[in-house]
Amino acid sequence: MDKRKIFLVIADGIGDRPVASLGGRTPLAAAATPTLDRLAAGGITGLLDPIAPGVCAGSDTAHLALLGYDPYRYYTGRGPLEAAGVGLAPRAGDVAFRCNFATVQERDGALVVTDRRAGRITERTAELAAALDGMKLSGGVTALFKESVAHRAALVLRGDRLSGAVSDVDPHSEGETLHPCRPTVAEGDPEYAAARRTCAALEEFVRRGREILDAHPVNDERRRAGLPPANCPLPRGGGLVPHIPPFGELHGLRAAALVEVGLLKGLLGNYLGFDLIECPGATGGADTDIGAMARAVTRAWDACDLIFVNIKAPDLAGHDDAPGEKIAACLLVDRFLALTETLWHAGTILAVLGDHSTPCEVGDHSGDPVPLLVHGPGVRPDAVEAYDEFACAAGGLGHPRGTDLMPILLNFANRYTKFGA
Ligand SMILES: [Zn+2]
Repeated sequence: MDKRKIFLVIADGIGDRPVASLGGRTPLAAAATPTLDRLAAGGITGLLDPIAPGVCAGSDTAHLALLGYDPYRYYTGRGPLEAAGVGLAPRAGDVAFRCNFATVQERDGALVVTDRRAGRITERTAELAAALDGMKLSGGVTALFKESVAHRAALVLRGDRLSGAVSDVDPHSEGETLHPCRPTVAEGDPEYAAARRTCAALEEFVRRGREILDAHPVNDERRRAGLPPANCPLPRGGGLVPHIPPFGELHGLRAAALVEVGLLKGLLGNYLGFDLIECPGATGGADTDIGAMARAVTRAWDACDLIFVNIKAPDLAGHDDAPGEKIAACLLVDRFLALTETLWHAGTILAVLGDHSTPCEVGDHSGDPVPLLVHGPGVRPDAVEAYDEFACAAGGLGHPRGTDLMPILLNFANRYTKFGA
């Protein structure tokens, strides 16, 4: 039997709920998507729960599940993903945090947060971050620090026996003092000593980081311009970077991915070992260059057994409660599939699905299942003739979960191994 290529296309957040202004249809049902409907008619469909029925997934946990990783085992918080997303290349055993550049003032010997986002600073944060990056801390711990978008940044602590079981220094509200960092496991827990070490390193980083930033020329200029100084790194969301088996080894595939946003670049590129396909036109917004994405995938096609693509636009429209924009984003997904027809026509197993639902009326993710379609040689077509939330509910794949997806695709691609004799 021929092993087939797998083409896995995620329309981020495409699932929705009935929208009154669309006559009770979802944006996907209201959108004219001839290519998706043709694929549904010739393929098999279903509704998929990214994690489990009713569980509202983040894009990160959903992608872990869809790629065959138990998210409850491998997801250790946003810190490790944020750090990978900005390019700090965290390794197993590191502890990573999300950070803000904040403004703090000394009052009675304590540091009070007066602005958690330092006036929503957008400029010259790279210079500030560089002043903290590579800081050597006691106990042989090194701090890696890099700016992200606007007032955000990421921190990695690297050293022996560190733990992610530590509380936030960020008080999460203004007018409060910095919180001490404390282990979140009890004394006597096997992780307690590592958590104590991590707390000490984190507090030292914040204390020295604050001194360095407060005296930094960029902040002198900000004060002169009447702007709040970005004079303190404010860490939160700490997590231990876990050992994760690379995707290619786990499934026996050469895998590449074209993804638009930093979070997924970090997850797939840094942690799961995907080759990332470069595409400068892929902006992650409604203005993304879908033609450039199709060309980039076409160029990478021959060298891979599996190509993964995430199109971000539907999720953004859902977050913005913009049904019209979500319809436009569905058309973008349809056009991407039309432009790549020569790839999925050539003996390929194609899957199209959302990573989670982002209903317009919610303006955020929800636990509603997502429409799934699989198309290719050997796939038994069902009676479904349209790709949307209503039609796919009657599909032949029924109602699988996220971690079922890779076994389903490996089966269709003749890349399965037999369980038993
Ligand atoms: Zn989202």
